[in-house]
Amino acid sequence: MLGLMQDRPLLISQLIEHAALNHGDTEIVSRTVEGPIHRYTYRDANTRAKKVAEALLALGIKVGDRIGTLAWNGYRHFELYYGISGMGAVCHTINPRLFPEQIVYIVNHAEDQLLFVDLNLLPAVEKLLPQMKGVRHVVAMTDRAHIPADCKIPNLLVYEELIADKPGAYEWPEFDERTASSLCYTSGTTGNPKGVLYHHRSTILHAYGAALPDTLNLSARSVVLPVVPMFHVNAWGLPYSAALVGAKLVFPGVALDGASLHELFEKEGVTFTAGVPTVWLALLNHMKANKLKLSTVKYAVIGGSAAPPAMIETFDKDYGVEVLHAWGMSEMSPLGTVNHPKEKHQRLSPKELLEVRLKQGRPPYGVDMTIVDDAGKELPRDGKAFGDLLVRGPWITSGYFKGEGGEVLREIAGKGGGWFATGDVATIDPDGYMQITDRSKDVIKSGGEWISSIDLENAAMAHPAVAEAAVIGVAHPKWDERPLLIVHKKPDARIDKKELIEFLGTKVAKWWLPDDVQFVESIPHTATGKILKTRLREDFKDYKLPTA
Ligand code: ADP
Repeated sequence: MLGLMQDRPLLISQLIEHAALNHGDTEIVSRTVEGPIHRYTYRDANTRAKKVAEALLALGIKVGDRIGTLAWNGYRHFELYYGISGMGAVCHTINPRLFPEQIVYIVNHAEDQLLFVDLNLLPAVEKLLPQMKGVRHVVAMTDRAHIPADCKIPNLLVYEELIADKPGAYEWPEFDERTASSLCYTSGTTGNPKGVLYHHRSTILHAYGAALPDTLNLSARSVVLPVVPMFHVNAWGLPYSAALVGAKLVFPGVALDGASLHELFEKEGVTFTAGVPTVWLALLNHMKANKLKLSTVKYAVIGGSAAPPAMIETFDKDYGVEVLHAWGMSEMSPLGTVNHPKEKHQRLSPKELLEVRLKQGRPPYGVDMTIVDDAGKELPRDGKAFGDLLVRGPWITSGYFKGEGGEVLREIAGKGGGWFATGDVATIDPDGYMQITDRSKDVIKSGGEWISSIDLENAAMAHPAVAEAAVIGVAHPKWDERPLLIVHKKPDARIDKKELIEFLGTKVAKWWLPDDVQFVESIPHTATGKILKTRLREDFKDYKLPTA
């Protein structure tokens, strides 16, 4: 027998409609690419998102068509999130920091019909456009007055002109909640990027799950500043969760340096922020150098890469900010786990508590996870055994756009099918806390045993002279692979190899100690701010360990 409740589809347009009705005067503040601060409300955003939908219809865009965006975090990008998905088309966010060939590949693979582009990215798009055959129009996300005189993009449209004469009276349509809503390509450090195609249902369920107290703890009292870009897995879902709870939104635009961020945090009373470790490094350095404090920020999400322990402690001790260590991936919309202590943890000593806080956290309801060994057999949840991390749930992908990469779901004996292999290696403890020990391709295999590159990096980053550290495995005749520590020192810091290895000796097992340390001017990053290990392996491919 079926129940008798209503079957209203879960649609993204309902989020902005809800926010406009119930949080109509709550502000959305943006530092614009043009320069000035822009302010308006959820009510205004809903009307302008409707105008966007009306403009798309006038341009002949249909349900399922892909519309690309190359844009920073700002109110027009927010309107596109809702305007494009709301009318049934697919909002395809593109990372402008990718290599030009990758951007061309992604736009062509997605078959984007329109490209909405922020002002400062127009010159780059102008160069690439001849290779993007399917793009009918580029829409400059600004007004006519800001269009550079030397811009030669053919058929260029201007955002403000496009929506100016539209009524904004559009009724958001109802359709199947599994209709594709947005598309995001994984940055593909190896091979071509692959598209993750979200739908309305997955996005709404993720927005609910992400707002929960033990996930991101968002409410109508939150002031949310996503530093994580709107092209990086939908800014981790924040533009949706904020509308769902009616939180004030603050968009930082293109200025992600410590000074610009700090100014916005203070001026707008930001309580919640989220980003990758590299941006926090810049902010913490800026605040330290200028003796600044944070007066309103309560939570900072650190995700995308492991949060270094020293960073968690600095935020807490020096700035009174609670770090929410989070793990996820594009294929998971992205939230998989967030670290919040349980009631019983309140009685732990600070040292014991830090041990718990370093883990990547617990999954909210909606994410099932387990670990398996090489033979695909489930491993115990004892916090010690580590293996391949598999996940399943209603906001996790079932396969890549256009079938790239083939079948991605696996079966686990006794647990059924539908499991997605994350490519991460992890432990899970009896309380449900997951800890990433490594990316499966980064783990260092020494004499049949595994060494975690993340643990070594964290240990090295705890040294005051180290700005950033990366560890890669290098071929070794006896052990197969041994760790090489690559260090970018803080300016003026003095430290040598011997001192650093001695320091690590107090933190990790002896057989884990790196066989060598190399100092470099900078550590390369991917377009989403992760350490680019493929490049480091390339840079050090002819390097021989002194122990080899
Ligand atoms: P990309 O940025 O490469 O497009 P994702 O953002 O989807 O792709 O990256 C997901 C991967 O990032 C995860 O599989 C994991 O390896 C890594 N990652 C994300 N968060 C964390 C974290 N808190 N700790 C360690 N690794 C993390």
